[in-house]
Formats: sequence, C-alpha cells, structure tokens
Amino acid sequence: MVKLLTFLVSLLLLHVSFSGCMSEKSTSMSDGSDPKAYALAIHGGAGVIKKENMTDSLEAAYRQVMDEALSIGEDILKNGGASIEAVTAVVMHMEDSPLFNAGKGAVFTHEGENEMDASIMDGRDLNAGAVGGVKHIKNPILAAKAVLEKSEHVMLTGEGAEQFAADQGIGMVDPSYFHTQRRWDALQRILDREEEITELDHDSKHGTVGAVALDKDGNLAAATSTGGMTNKRYNRIGDSPIIGAGTYANNATCAVSSTGHGEYFIRYAVAHAISAQMQYGGKSLQEAGDDVVHKQLVQAGGTGGIISVDKRGNIHMPFNTPGMFRGYAIPNDRNIRIYKKD
Ligand code: ASP
Repeated sequence: MVKLLTFLVSLLLLHVSFSGCMSEKSTSMSDGSDPKAYALAIHGGAGVIKKENMTDSLEAAYRQVMDEALSIGEDILKNGGASIEAVTAVVMHMEDSPLFNAGKGAVFTHEGENEMDASIMDGRDLNAGAVGGVKHIKNPILAAKAVLEKSEHVMLTGEGAEQFAADQGIGMVDPSYFHTQRRWDALQRILDREEEITELDHDSKHGTVGAVALDKDGNLAAATSTGGMTNKRYNRIGDSPIIGAGTYANNATCAVSSTGHGEYFIRYAVAHAISAQMQYGGKSLQEAGDDVVHKQLVQAGGTGGIISVDKRGNIHMPFNTPGMFRGYAIPNDRNIRIYKKD
C-alpha cells in the first residue's frame, strides 16, 4: 500500500514538473532526464501566426515540410553523422520549400528583389560561416557552410559572397527562381499601405528557418537562413547571418538559432547572450532562453523566438509572438507545433 502511494505521488510530481516545462510561450524538452544520444530542433519563423488565419491545407503543408526536415536531420544524427551536417541538410530542405522565408520562398525587398542571408556555426571549435545580401545562390546555407570550411573569413556579402560561392561550385540560379506569388502579393500589400506605415513589415513577416543539433559525439551546431524582412531597403541585413545574434553554437553551452525582428536580436546579441548566461551565470538552457526572450526582448519591444539545444540534449524553444513554427526530434520522440496553444 505504501509502495503504491509512493508510486502515485511520484507520478503526480513527474506530471507537474513536466507540464511546468511546457509553458504556453515555449516548447521545452528539458525534464532533467538522462542525456540524449542526439537531439534536433527546427524553426520556420515566428510572428503573428494564428490558427484563424491558417487554412487546414496550408497548415498540413507546413507540418509536412517540417516533418520531412526532421526526418532528414534525424537520419544523419541516428547514423552517427555530425551535427553540422544535420543542420545544413535540414535548413537546405526548408530553403527548397516555397512556404518559408528562406531560399525559394524568400520575401521581397522594397525594390522587388530577393536578398538572402544565412549563417552556420560549429560548436566544436567555434568555427563559423555566413553570407549576407545574396541574390543568386539557390541554397544560401551551403554558401555559409563553404565560408566556414573553405575560407579564412566568417562573413561575406553581396557580389563577393556570390563569386566565392560560384568558385566553390555552389548552385546558382536566376533571381526569377525566388519569385513566389504569395511573397510578391505581400510586398504589394505593404507598398499600397506605405503612406500609412513607412517601416519594415514587422507583423506579418515570418518564415526564417533554422536548426540546432547535438550529435552522438557530443558536438553542437546551429544554422539559420532567411530572406530577411519584406520591404527592406538599402541592403539592410538582419540578425540571421550575424554570429552571436541569429546563430551561435558552443559545445561548452548550447546551440541557438533565432527568428524575429532582427534589429533587436542584433542589439541584444540574442544567441550569444543565451550561451553567455549559461557559461558565466550558471543558468540552465531554459532559464537563459526565458530571460533573453521573455524578459530582455519583451522589455525592449523585440518580437520573435529562438530554438536551442544544450550538450545534454535538452531542447528549449521560447517565443514571445502568437506563434512560431517549431519542432524537435530526439530518440523515440518527435513533436511539431505552430501556435502558442498547440
Ligand atoms: N530575423 C530575420 C531578420 O530580421 C527575420 C525573421 O526571422 O523573421 O532578417
């Protein structure tokens, strides 16, 4: 009888502590259990993403691409592949989908062009690569990875980045490849309203993609790719290609990929701030992410979210917007969510 009671009480406690981790504004898988053999988390952007604005078929399409992306990354990690390869393959898959604001589905600038940014970081040695403002590279994340692996630099931009990518044999396309009606219409809607609002489209934009992973060797990696923000001008570059803002990975702490209003993510060095709170402040992945996303960014007015994984395979995905396309895969568990209450 005593044994039965003890068992029931522990079940209750387990339930309480687990639901505590699954707050409405985040998705967490950090239950203090044994380290995971591998872990993968993805995002497809944060913003005003609400069930009432989504059709069933569009939601199913988003879920399908995220599910495929998780399978691609999980296959690599399960078979002992490196986290840097997993995050690259996952982001590439999402770049190839017209649904997300990266690669094929990139949003339009004020002038009606597509200018893309991407970055990647390896937590083993803090090696990193990034490209900004590229217009002809089919998969900007491959160019970022080439900068990491084959150059002595961290960030290349514009025509120079494209020349480097072409020299590395990375696939180039005509800019018309990035034309999607949905993104074009989004720009026209903003241009029509431009007399009323002169800023970037902060509210309706979403769809930046990112991935973070822990592999079986204990190595962390992060990758992020975006078309930036609809109606951007003057070669504006956001946080996504900036190491420490949009992307960060350090085996000693965590891997982070951000999405949201880039200007704030740059100023608050969001991805590195989370790692630094863990490294120097002794915070857990969850505490550090919540502090930055739910306190610092909220106080500043910076909307968005992040996905993160630590060296034990804990995953935390906090966001301060109505929704964030997000998902994770760990041994024997997979989860895909979109809305705050999902
Ligand atoms: N962070 C991206 C940027 O500011 C946009 C986004 O993630 O929605 O370029």
